[in-house]
Amino acid sequence: MSLSIEQLARANVRALTPYQSARRLGGNGDVWLNANEYPLPVDFELTQQTLNRYPECQPKLVIERYADYAGLQPDQVLTCRGADEGIELLMRAFCEPGEDAVLFCPPTYGMYSVSAETIGVAYRIVQAREDWQLNLAEIEARLDGVKLLYLCSPNNPTGNLVNPADIRALLEMTRGKALVIADEAYIEFCPQASVAGWLGEYPHLVVLRTLSKAFALAGLRCGFVLANAPVIELLLKVIAPYPLATPVADIAAQALSESGLAEMRRHVETIKQNREQLVTALRQSRWVEAVFDSETNYLLVRFRASSFVFKSLWDQGIILRDQNKQPGLAGCLRISIGTRAECNRVIDALAALPVSDDLREQA
Ligand SMILES: *Cc1c(COP(=O)(O)O)cnc(C)c1O
Repeated sequence: MSLSIEQLARANVRALTPYQSARRLGGNGDVWLNANEYPLPVDFELTQQTLNRYPECQPKLVIERYADYAGLQPDQVLTCRGADEGIELLMRAFCEPGEDAVLFCPPTYGMYSVSAETIGVAYRIVQAREDWQLNLAEIEARLDGVKLLYLCSPNNPTGNLVNPADIRALLEMTRGKALVIADEAYIEFCPQASVAGWLGEYPHLVVLRTLSKAFALAGLRCGFVLANAPVIELLLKVIAPYPLATPVADIAAQALSESGLAEMRRHVETIKQNREQLVTALRQSRWVEAVFDSETNYLLVRFRASSFVFKSLWDQGIILRDQNKQPGLAGCLRISIGTRAECNRVIDALAALPVSDDLREQA
């Protein structure tokens, strides 16, 4: 019997819908507000001229500087190809394909399910409550066989923090059973909310971080896993031998220097100011039903006739992220906070949209 290439592939890969990244979704825009990137590039120069050599697996300077920044010891830090790789390394180290499960709480970040499907690990969904907080009773009822619980705080795409008391309750509930992974991709916008300081109390806590958002380095592909040394040691067994290219480590170390951190903090202030201005303007738009509070560099907004709004702005080169298909998010679009001028483009485009009777009915 002769098998096609498709038939030779693993069943779970054949069934897989790849992550619909902003880049894959495309669009012909000049105002990109769909991937929660920082709107402007930062300048770096390469200082390492050693591309004939393999890089360090865990570049020492990057690890030391991140540990300092996070208030941890170097043996509690692992660096990898973006937080996305961290999500997957944890599954590869802790989940037996076909046996163990991971659990997460939609509406949330899309890569938890995509990684689980790629690896062949079952995932369990416990939808967040209406206020987007954890449904702890339901999680407890469905914990059997679960090795990893992913929670995203602040949550993408809703922008809210998970209640710290609930995270503690979850950590007590899972002690000796499973790991709790707090995805803190946006924590620089609300640093006081980090749970990284809890690592001493919980051997099964893991925190994911990235340089892609507040550090303005999405193109660098550099992220971090923060955990106690025994977890880090296991992840080091499954990570690629050279996860960070030499130029990546070079730039990451600069981004984590004192001046790099100061620049990141200036980004955060700018984005927060633009966010407040955008919130105020959106709340005055006739197209907007609700702007949800956000601790991040994006806003989740419920629109009247959201498909019409999405398409109209798309046609004008303003690319937002449609969240309609996420549970509980009908009518919602996510808008990354851009420059002041980009935020104004959104407001002006909304103000110029024609309102007709049939549109009002659609809404
Ligand atoms: C952007 C994002 C990531 C991925 O970060 P990378 O470091 O670019 O891979 C992970 N988690 C959440 C919640 C994100 O929004």
